Amino acid sequence: MSKQNQPNFATKCIHGGLSPDPATGAVMTPIYQTSTYAQSAPGVNQGYAYARTKNPTRSALESNLASLENGKHAICFSSGLAAMDNILRLLSPGDEVLASDDLYGGSYRLLTSVFAGFGIKSRFIDMRDATTVAAEVSDATKMLWIETPTNPMLNLVDIAALTEIAKEKGLLSVIDNTFASPYLQQPLDMGADLVLHSATKYLGGHSDVVMGAVVTHNEEFAQRLYYLQNAVGAIPGPQDCFLVLRGIKTLHLRVERACQNAQRIVEVLQRDDRVAHVYYPGLPDHPGHALARRQMRDFGAMVSFDLKVDTMEAASALMQKTHYFTLAESLGGVESLIGHPATMTHASIPREQRLQVGLTDSLIRLSVGIEDADDLVDDLTNALR
Ligand SMILES: *Cc1c(COP(=O)(O)O)cnc(C)c1O
Repeated sequence: MSKQNQPNFATKCIHGGLSPDPATGAVMTPIYQTSTYAQSAPGVNQGYAYARTKNPTRSALESNLASLENGKHAICFSSGLAAMDNILRLLSPGDEVLASDDLYGGSYRLLTSVFAGFGIKSRFIDMRDATTVAAEVSDATKMLWIETPTNPMLNLVDIAALTEIAKEKGLLSVIDNTFASPYLQQPLDMGADLVLHSATKYLGGHSDVVMGAVVTHNEEFAQRLYYLQNAVGAIPGPQDCFLVLRGIKTLHLRVERACQNAQRIVEVLQRDDRVAHVYYPGLPDHPGHALARRQMRDFGAMVSFDLKVDTMEAASALMQKTHYFTLAESLGGVESLIGHPATMTHASIPREQRLQVGLTDSLIRLSVGIEDADDLVDDLTNALR
């Protein structure tokens, strides 16, 4: 389909890749809660034989996700990490992954504690400067693993520059687009081979489901991933696929509002004299601000800040005083969350390594939700007091 004929993003959230159920005309995709399908003769079926291989609710979600990321194929898995696991199975022993040094903790753990044991090594580098990345590529390097904005430091990585390097050097480029969501950036349009999502976050959007997905244009990788989806079997159930389909219908509205709320909160935090530093790509003095303007539709709803009293205790005291910001892991839901990367999401990364990337003991990460902005601001300022 030519780009001109493609509907705009909001329309894709609601209709992209979807049509009424062919069996009944049901407007909303039914939950096909079945593990198997009747065959009219041995081996003769209607395209569905067994539900690990294929399920209509999952297929609907996959075509919706492909449409959101401007890809040809989406392949869903039981979690974001299961999706990552299947992507890493495209590699062979001896291959090396070059990954961002400011990475989701679970992704770091999967690379270092699981895949390293199968002979797939990883090196972690600062990806903010594309020329450094090009210089780090070795003969063994086969994959660039990119997160942007990064977690929890909210650094920006130039997707177009890095996918260009990947093409020159024959590497597979993977963008973990969980933090931005396809509403804010579409990495396949910037040259990426594969886009990964933890659908647990903005896509699901209501903190009620765990799921992952990979989106691509590339026929060969897509067919291999469909093969692995069935062969390895880390598939999501139909009920969860329905929940993510439902969540996506309001993705554009949710992320738009969450970004507006984040902007308000950032302004208040910046003026507060108990706050040492605010990390947010929307700030004009953020080193990735110009890139964020080019690469993203808005600046996102993840905000990190640290305290002048830089101790775990000070951060912990603040986080126990908020009322609407719930102290919890995860992000991207309608409700605001507050977290402490050093003891929560990034506890598996050694302290010296955390400090090297600026992840201080008092660093606090917010996932700003879609509540009333005034209430969120009051909640944070009360806790800071
Ligand atoms: C949560 C998350 C993951 C892992 O996804 P799960 O669904 O929890 O397995 C990967 N990358 C990022 C950036 C995440 O936030």
